[in-house]
This record gives sequence, C-alpha cells and structure tokens, in this order.
Amino acid sequence: MINIALDGPSGAGKSTLAKALAKTLGYIYTDTGAMYRTIGLAVKRRGIAPDNAAEIEALLPEIRISLKFENGEQKIYLGDEDVGALIRTNEISAYASTVSAIPAVRAHLLDVQRGIARENNVIMDGRDIGTVILPDAQVKFFVTVSDTERARRRHAELVARGESVTLEEVAAAMAERDRKDATREIAPAIPAEDAVFLDNSDALDIVIARAVAIIREKTEGKA
Ligand code: C5P
Repeated sequence: MINIALDGPSGAGKSTLAKALAKTLGYIYTDTGAMYRTIGLAVKRRGIAPDNAAEIEALLPEIRISLKFENGEQKIYLGDEDVGALIRTNEISAYASTVSAIPAVRAHLLDVQRGIARENNVIMDGRDIGTVILPDAQVKFFVTVSDTERARRRHAELVARGESVTLEEVAAAMAERDRKDATREIAPAIPAEDAVFLDNSDALDIVIARAVAIIREKTEGKA
C-alpha cells in the first residue's frame, strides 16, 4: 500500500489539498482531525470537561466512531449519526485540541488510523501522521502557509457556515491551538525528519502539481 502523510498546523489548508490529491491519485482520504473532533463532541455532550482525562478514558469504549468512504470522501459517524457538519465549530475545535493531548485518546485512535493505512492507499491528514502513526509512509509532507492567509481562509470557512466570529478571534484561537499542539508532550505537531515542506500559500492547482510530482518521484512512479 502507498501511504502519504500530510501534517501541518490548523488552517494550513491540509484537508482541501488532501482531498484534491486523493481524487487525483484515486486514494482514500483520511481526516484524522475529524476523529479528535468527534471525540470532542461526544465529551461535550456528556458534559465532561475536555481536560478530565479519567472520565474521558472511561467514556472511550462507548464512543463508536466510524468512517465511510463515499466517492473517495470521508464521512464520519458517531454511532449512527453523521456528525460531519457538527464538528466544525470553533467550540469543538477547542474541545478537539484539548482531548487530543490525552494519551488514552491518542492510543485509541492510533489503531484505527494504522488499520486504514494498512488496507488502503491513503492520504492521511493530521499532526503526527509522519512522526507517530505512519513512520514508514513513502511520502511525508509538512504543509505550511502564511499566518494571515491561514486566518483569512479559516474565517471565510466559518462565516460561510453561518458562525458569527471576527477575523481577530479566529487568528487568536488558531494561534492558541497551534501553541498547544506544538508544545504538548505527547505527539507534538512537528515535522518528521524526512518530511518535505509544502508551501500551500499558492493556488491549489500549483500546489497539487508540485505535490504529485514529489509523490511520483518518491514512489518511483508507483503512485
Ligand atoms: O485538523 P483539525 O483542525 O480538524 O484537528 C483538530 C484538532 O485535533 C487539532 O487542533 C489537534 O489538536 C488535534 N489533532 C491531533 N492529531 C491529529 C489530528 C488532529 O492532535 N492527527
């Protein structure tokens, strides 16, 4: 199987890029952030504080997350409920970031993510895919984009979804989330030693062409 890791900070445009790459190559796209978000949603619904590791660990066996792939796109379910639209709010972003620092949560998702990569040609988007989840991935990207462009894109996304939030609030929340993700002890969001940096500030088709060329070179034309 060919495994491609796509890591980077929030709002770097990883999911748009990963979806487009998956489509171009005919691979499965796996959004691991959505899994942390779904756990965040379940925790919030139970009224548990997102940093309450003991209660969250006890809840994990009850959280049934499943992924379905339709036309190469990932749909995410909590039990039988499609939660794709519910997990994208700023509030759930913060829950996801906090629960993702709990070791039991990461261990729980590690098996799921490795299982998908074992059975599929996959583009997996996350924070620790190249470093922890798929250390043997044939290609590892670390996606970057300028801070202002990142905040602008995320703000536009939230506004399009009907959230009332200012650009400054989005920028501040993103900076805080990045700080937490990059400095936590467990699986910090840092590039793998053998990661290729991919600047995603340019137009999507240019970045895709650049990424596909790198993938083809690294997989010796197998991709
Ligand atoms: O990528 P996304 O913004 O949806 O991720 C939500 C949160 O989940 C991130 O802020 C990060 O804390 C966490 N996450 C993680 N490891 C991953 C993917 C996401 O810790 N592989």
